[in-house]
Amino acid sequence: MKGLQGKTAIVTGGASGIGQAIAIRLAEEGVNVAINYVGRPDGALATKEAIEGEVDACLCAMRDTGTRPLLVEADVSNEDDVTRMFKQVVGEYGHLDFLVNNAGIQIASPSETLTAADFDRVLNVNLRGSFLCARAALRHLVEESRPGAIVNVSSVHQEIPKPGFLGYSVSKGGMQNLTRSLALEYAGRGIRVNAVAPGATITPINRAWVDEPEKRAMVESHIPMGRAGTAEEMAAVAAFLFSDEAAYVTGQTIYVDGGLTLFADFRTTWSSE
Ligand code: NAP
Repeated sequence: MKGLQGKTAIVTGGASGIGQAIAIRLAEEGVNVAINYVGRPDGALATKEAIEGEVDACLCAMRDTGTRPLLVEADVSNEDDVTRMFKQVVGEYGHLDFLVNNAGIQIASPSETLTAADFDRVLNVNLRGSFLCARAALRHLVEESRPGAIVNVSSVHQEIPKPGFLGYSVSKGGMQNLTRSLALEYAGRGIRVNAVAPGATITPINRAWVDEPEKRAMVESHIPMGRAGTAEEMAAVAAFLFSDEAAYVTGQTIYVDGGLTLFADFRTTWSSE
């Protein structure tokens, strides 16, 4: 894709699932990717090895551009960690062009028994973490007078309520205005802010149904296209949003959901019968 080669990016939560796929896809497009992880580095190492394996496996231009993945440890909800992470990445790469706010968690609980600590935990990672990372990226871009782009990994639950997952629902609802407000604030400086909103996607966050055929069939029966999405399908749209093909796109959320936000119950005209 146009405009990606030689750029640099941080992908939060890049050690698994959608973040890992985005990190690999951006690297395939010639981007130097800093893979953020929290806790044990095993998953992040796997992402790095996958990227380096790609370089060896295909004689693509990324080898010529010297694509160099980095591992960066940080809890995105922790302000000091985020400051240190950006300093480290800018120190290594010299500058930063892109940020993917992907790190996210969810906690299930009936809302009447949801603890304030669990509500805060989800908001802290999903929303405060995205704000802290966006702020650090924007500071750098503004100081350097550089154009750049941010892609937030939101969710269909930005739009569709998710009972029993109140913190998650609220955090993704908030992400919509994080995306739109920052897009408007920085549009005049050449900094674009967009979001990818996945539907049900095969990743570790969905371990409750991914490997259980009956549960998975139940989940997929709700999706108009009849199947869950893959992390690679999310990554392709994220790469597009960073690329020059999307040079005039800002403040938008692209739903990558197999039609989940199309009110699947209206596949038949039951309301008019
Ligand atoms: P995942 O594999 O569980 O990925 C989430 C990543 O975030 C993990 O690598 C996790 O690291 C990391 N993370 C958690 N807390 C963090 C923190 N405090 N600081 C830094 N990283 C942290 O699940 P996924 O499905 O790929 O989720 C990625 C994003 O997609 C999330 O924002 C999620 O809400 C969104 N999404 C997913 C789906 C879906 O169906 N899969 C649908 C809609 C939206 P650890 O594993 O080390 O905790």
